[in-house]
Amino acid sequence: MSETAASRPQRKHLHFDALVQLARQRFESVPEQRRCPAFSLPDTLMAGLALFSLKDSSLLAFCRRTLDHNLRSVFGLKAVPSDTQMREILDEVDPDKVRPLFKDVFRQVQRGKVLEHYVFLEGCYLLALDGVEYFCSNKIHCDHCLTRQHKNGTLSYYHQMLGAVLVHPDFPEVLPLAPEPIQRKDGQKKNDCERNAAGRWFKRFRKDHPHLPVIVVEDALSSNAPHIRDLRAAHCHFILGVKEGDHKHLFEQFRQRLAADEVEIVEDVDASKGITHGYVFANGLTLNESSEEKVNFLQYLEMHDDGEERQWTFVVDLELRQANVRRVAVGGRTRWRIENETYNTLKNQGYHFEHNYGHGYKNLCTIFAMLMMLAFLIDQVQQKCNPLFRAAWKKKGPKSALWEAVRHLFASFEVSSMHEVYEGIAYGFKRPSLKVLIEQARGEEDEEGEDTS
Ligand SMILES: [Zn+2]
Repeated sequence: MSETAASRPQRKHLHFDALVQLARQRFESVPEQRRCPAFSLPDTLMAGLALFSLKDSSLLAFCRRTLDHNLRSVFGLKAVPSDTQMREILDEVDPDKVRPLFKDVFRQVQRGKVLEHYVFLEGCYLLALDGVEYFCSNKIHCDHCLTRQHKNGTLSYYHQMLGAVLVHPDFPEVLPLAPEPIQRKDGQKKNDCERNAAGRWFKRFRKDHPHLPVIVVEDALSSNAPHIRDLRAAHCHFILGVKEGDHKHLFEQFRQRLAADEVEIVEDVDASKGITHGYVFANGLTLNESSEEKVNFLQYLEMHDDGEERQWTFVVDLELRQANVRRVAVGGRTRWRIENETYNTLKNQGYHFEHNYGHGYKNLCTIFAMLMMLAFLIDQVQQKCNPLFRAAWKKKGPKSALWEAVRHLFASFEVSSMHEVYEGIAYGFKRPSLKVLIEQARGEEDEEGEDTS
């Protein structure tokens, strides 16, 4: 049922200030290993989350806010460590301790009945998975860096993660689940890889969400037998891109079926746009010669009246039928949202995903990436569920202008919540006249002068 502005529930437990409170509770539960620390661990973790919520361009810029009352009132910080202290403290934190906060936020989204909007096909959610590199250097490195040996003898160090976001073709907002770092374990000599990270991710995903019905959508790198076995073992449906160059045997079977007239075809003509959509599919093909893995195959063609033709091919575990192939093709193509709406947003829309806020020797690089993804999750929930956030965004236009306005208000006025900041941006505020303020201040000074005489 669609919601109107009047009927839309307020869902205050999903608003920024409530989710920051939730983060605080989770950070309070992270065990403190240090004796008599000058800055508490929850405060330092909250400072990291505040850094990425405000999207300051450097850690130093954030730490210049040390005396800002608003860090206390909005983020509950009792004290703000210096940039060096913050790096040292966070470097020691196990990223797994931050991970449960993704589930905490997810539960709230579920409770707010927002998740049900994301059901896509046969009662399942679409879950896009993809690896991304977010740090690379020839010099800076830590115990967990992956390494790349170049032909000229040089070595580069890098970090990647396997991201996972719930997506829906009708909504621009994505809901990230906890990412899995792709990195070396303590003492490990060999590089970790996306495939191993995916195996770990599925196990942890099913521990966190044992019954969440999902259709995993991924690019063509994932359509291999071991990965498909991992997907089936985790009870995940899948729609995976597939390319002829990697799967000659599969495409050959499809051509044989086509020649024998053993495929099904659905065709939709959209005369208004001059496009014909063609769906050609066959169930029960073998993925490759060396495995017994059975998959269903869908070729989706987009044929334009001017002769332009585009096509996508997918392997799917759901049985393909006339009634579901349109939706399956849409689902497969929604995969790009993890690249576009997630990684590109993090890189280009104010989050500084590839900026090095500090690398550390152990966990700092990973902790910063996790905290940034959490800040992004909280922002996405605001965009989806907080009308005041949307009003503020509408007023400012591009996201970068909204973040700039948040930082400006945060630095210029005393506020008690982010709600007030969004409200100020959305509905404006009367700027006090500088002349009046100076006169008031002078008046107060004169009164003080009289009292002491
Ligand atoms: Zn590293």
